[in-house]
Amino acid sequence: MEIKRNQYLIDRIPVTGLMEKYGSPLYIYESKKMVAQYNRMMDAFKNTRVKINYAAKALTNVNILKLFRKLGAGLDAVSIQEVKLGLQAGFDPGDILYTPNCVSIEEIEDVAQLNVKINIDNISILEQFGHKYGNDIPVCIRINPHILAGGNQKISTGHIDSKFGISIHQIPLVKRVVETNNMHVEGLHMHTGSDILDVEVFLRGAEIILEIAKEFKDLDYIDFGSGFKVAYKADDIETDIEALGTNLSKRFNEFCRDYGKELTIIFEPGKYLVSEAGYFVARTNVIKQTTSTVFAGLDTGMNHFIRPMFYDAYHEVVNISKPAGKTRIYTVVGYICETDTFGYNRKITEISEGDYLLFKNAGAYCYAMASNYNSRLRPAEVLVHQGKDYLIRKREDFEDISRNVVHVDL
Ligand SMILES: *Cc1c(COP(=O)(O)O)cnc(C)c1O
Repeated sequence: MEIKRNQYLIDRIPVTGLMEKYGSPLYIYESKKMVAQYNRMMDAFKNTRVKINYAAKALTNVNILKLFRKLGAGLDAVSIQEVKLGLQAGFDPGDILYTPNCVSIEEIEDVAQLNVKINIDNISILEQFGHKYGNDIPVCIRINPHILAGGNQKISTGHIDSKFGISIHQIPLVKRVVETNNMHVEGLHMHTGSDILDVEVFLRGAEIILEIAKEFKDLDYIDFGSGFKVAYKADDIETDIEALGTNLSKRFNEFCRDYGKELTIIFEPGKYLVSEAGYFVARTNVIKQTTSTVFAGLDTGMNHFIRPMFYDAYHEVVNISKPAGKTRIYTVVGYICETDTFGYNRKITEISEGDYLLFKNAGAYCYAMASNYNSRLRPAEVLVHQGKDYLIRKREDFEDISRNVVHVDL
């Protein structure tokens, strides 16, 4: 593709060229950024034993899973389907930690047959699992340390009313279940939800888990979950991963000395690894001037890109068809028959119908949450890797959304 001046590039590839080649709307991912984030996190914890399990649910395309496997990551899976995708991507079963919530004991048993690591987050399942397997299959236990790490209620999981994990106040009961069934607890886990701004709060949660860890004598790892915040705009705050690395590694190494064994720290980031590596690009269908607002209406909707409506997430918008020039204020909306606003009152270079708008931070929880609402087709996904573009998921067609419908004569 010819590179013109001022073109918006992803790893040297002009995005407008990708739009012409693959059509609109389109998800585009940049492997370089994923690798950089992975390496940055590994580097922050270079003074201790660390394993990064990529949280598959953020962006589940098998090629992305393969990329992280090649980097040496493990996998965090929350459903049996994610476990199977991980195995398809070539992960060693022992490198997959399955962390379900409120799933059936049958599903957990099916996953146990696949030899992946099992994380249990309620006492009912712990009892049933222990009764069935005793110490044949080791388990990890998900603890809820009751700290409120992030700012967003919808994505915070560590607070007192949360459905996740086993309360720290129930540890005596956990121990009784473990001892009566002679279970082997190989790991402890916490995941306090997303958007951790304050390293201090995270360390407090970690301290609670380390305190509990003393009571389990045969641990191999402690999984501190994730929830690391990334920047959504210039000068946005993000989790200070380097500060976390320095402080937690030091504390963890001390703990291991006292414990008498070298344990591994596990993290399971999703957003931190892929958010900034993703872009969502759509075409402007209509510019609609009302009495109070100028709307830019796109050939996509919240069915493809739900985070702004679902989480009030802020995603920066760039008019890549007009990289420079005069700006105007727009409200950017989708084509769904329901209010689906992507951004209110955004200052964007003047948009003409046909222009491509690019949304940043579209790697995590974007394609993964796409649906067929309004009977719309889901977009294609493209990966830019080492300066080349690869189609990694085809755009859906009408056949895809009608395939499973059963026509009956009524
Ligand atoms: C969603 C999830 C993650 C990933 O969270 P991010 O905020 O995307 O890093 C990690 N662990 C578990 C158990 C999760 O459910």
